[in-house]
Amino acid sequence: MLFPSRCPVCRHENRVEFADASIHDLQCTACGAAYCLFVRKQKFEVLFDLGTRALMDGYAREAVASFAAALERFFEFYIRAFVLEQASGKDEEFDVAVNRLDTTWRHVVSQSERQIGMFALAYLLREGQEPDFLTGKALGADFRNRVIHRGYLPRRAEVDEYAARIFALIDRLLTELGPGAGHVELAQERSFAAHLSQLPEGVTAVFEEHPGMFRARRFASAGPVKSAPVPAGRTQGALNDAQVFARALAERGAALDWLRRF
Ligand SMILES: [Zn+2]
Repeated sequence: MLFPSRCPVCRHENRVEFADASIHDLQCTACGAAYCLFVRKQKFEVLFDLGTRALMDGYAREAVASFAAALERFFEFYIRAFVLEQASGKDEEFDVAVNRLDTTWRHVVSQSERQIGMFALAYLLREGQEPDFLTGKALGADFRNRVIHRGYLPRRAEVDEYAARIFALIDRLLTELGPGAGHVELAQERSFAAHLSQLPEGVTAVFEEHPGMFRARRFASAGPVKSAPVPAGRTQGALNDAQVFARALAERGAALDWLRRF
């Protein structure tokens, strides 16, 4: 998956492939300048935006794989936020806590079932309650498996519903995490700083923040998802998943246009 990036020297628009660690060592195809692009975004955000873009472009089946991956990476994000939050409460060295978390993660990295187990415990310890949303039915696990593993061709409405369910869940958990999410952002900044310190002379560092479906919420640039206007005489109920997703799409979907050009 490619996205456009402007050369800091000649302003030429280069095509860049998303890198797993959000760190892109680049050379401008026009002027040859070397630069390093750091994208301040979490993996689950990138994946959800790619899914949303695919959905908007009519690739419903492809979107499912991205949404499913986004949810798995969000569970990892939540676990990391929780563990680092705990460590900071104990005045522990941040880098030590991150290292210990990274080595522990290796035990579960290739098995998503183990990761869901870790998430369930993290949620229980942090919120003091059962993660009752963690059932296969609530997560649309059967639908996801039919699409990804059995070649089922989903209708657009089914994918909309699946996307809305995952969006609403991540949105709710991010809200519950609140400033706790900042610990993972800090870990990303540290990994950027480590790479930055190793850059050869003459390489320009560029930091970017791409708009997306979730980022807007946490950094308040577009404000939180607002409730729909309530007609007179009716009490306001909570928005359902589809309404929450539709509203976010209306507010932030256009911000994903930059993903369309490549
Ligand atoms: Zn250039």
